[in-house]
Amino acid sequence: MATRSSWIQYAADCDFSIYNIPFGVYADADTRHHACSAIGDQVIDLYELCHHGYFGILNLDSSLFKHEFLNEFIALGKEVTNPVRNRIIELFSAGNTELQNNPVHCKTILKKQADVRMLLPVHIGDYTDFYSSIDHATNVGTMFRDPANALLPNWKHLPVGYHGRASSICVSGHSFHRPKGQQKPPDAELPVFGPCKLLDFELETAFVIGKKTEMGESVSTAKADDHIFGMLLFNDWSARDIQTWEYVPLGPFLAKNFASTVSPWIVTLEALEPFRTKGYVQEPKVLPYLQYTGDKNLDIKLEMFIQPEKAEPTKICTSNYKYMYWTMEQQLAHHTVNGCNLNVGDLMGSGTISGPQPHEYGSMLELTWKGTKPMKMSDGSERKFINDNDTVIIKGWCEKDGVRVGFGECSAKALPAL
Ligand code: CA
Repeated sequence: MATRSSWIQYAADCDFSIYNIPFGVYADADTRHHACSAIGDQVIDLYELCHHGYFGILNLDSSLFKHEFLNEFIALGKEVTNPVRNRIIELFSAGNTELQNNPVHCKTILKKQADVRMLLPVHIGDYTDFYSSIDHATNVGTMFRDPANALLPNWKHLPVGYHGRASSICVSGHSFHRPKGQQKPPDAELPVFGPCKLLDFELETAFVIGKKTEMGESVSTAKADDHIFGMLLFNDWSARDIQTWEYVPLGPFLAKNFASTVSPWIVTLEALEPFRTKGYVQEPKVLPYLQYTGDKNLDIKLEMFIQPEKAEPTKICTSNYKYMYWTMEQQLAHHTVNGCNLNVGDLMGSGTISGPQPHEYGSMLELTWKGTKPMKMSDGSERKFINDNDTVIIKGWCEKDGVRVGFGECSAKALPAL
């Protein structure tokens, strides 16, 4: 049962309850970039909160919250970021009047989310994407290789991943042009060049590294959570026709690096902790460095929508993070087992999250089964893949015993090719 409430009113289905208190960066006409949190439909300006002395005993310099990105704040470690979050929870809890009774301070500290622009929350130095949903990997293997041997021999022994490109990761609300590139239609002898015809999304989450490591160091599954600051929603846009032709033998390249979208709020691992759930039973047994104890999966409900131009969004998929075969802790242990170092702000994508049921598939490739089963939109039009001027929206949240912690939205629009 939810035992805590806030003096800021919000609906029961609000993502930004007193239990959440995520971190982000916003801008508006008066503010170039300030760190912020969210409650209800408000943003909480952390620079103003600090400047007016509300972080008193934490002894922080308000300039910490004036940076373009959260990296410097996050780098202070959970011994600082957790007390900051706990202090915000305390200040906004029902019954606390410290800020509530100061309308002058409230006016500078609180702003309507609808009136501000959310910015990319971290400077992402490096971006890695995994391939950790067993249903997604099975579907793709069934479609492109062999239904009898859909998973490649390594898949159940290590969390497969690749290094992506950080420069083209944008915050929710952006648009991008349909990529162009080489494709080789199945009946063609030679490749052709032109706009991608099979533009797709990938329903993912991502986690942000909060604690660096040195080269040579490995992070165990037991220590991995110390290095995970929090999670966001993530759309790893993909050009399927470019991908099919280029990916052998080194994996995705231009099919993936033209755009990816993150949601603006980093929901801390601490806020997600109550929603932990059992992970997959892994058979065959994994190597010792990938073993872990406790419930390390997460029950995060995920929804995906396509909004055609001048039409209402159509819900096309309902999935859940709990369908991940490999946990974040295992992904991080594997990523660092060779001594690869981590930096604060690095982003790790989950890989497309598909569930076992056809309405739980996390890409158009799977939902329309390579375009053979088109989907109906609310305006009557059909989709095999993503059309020009479609907006794709991911929503995600945790809910248990009347407590809701959500991510908001991750949305982007595909424009015609340049
Ligand atoms: Ca991906």
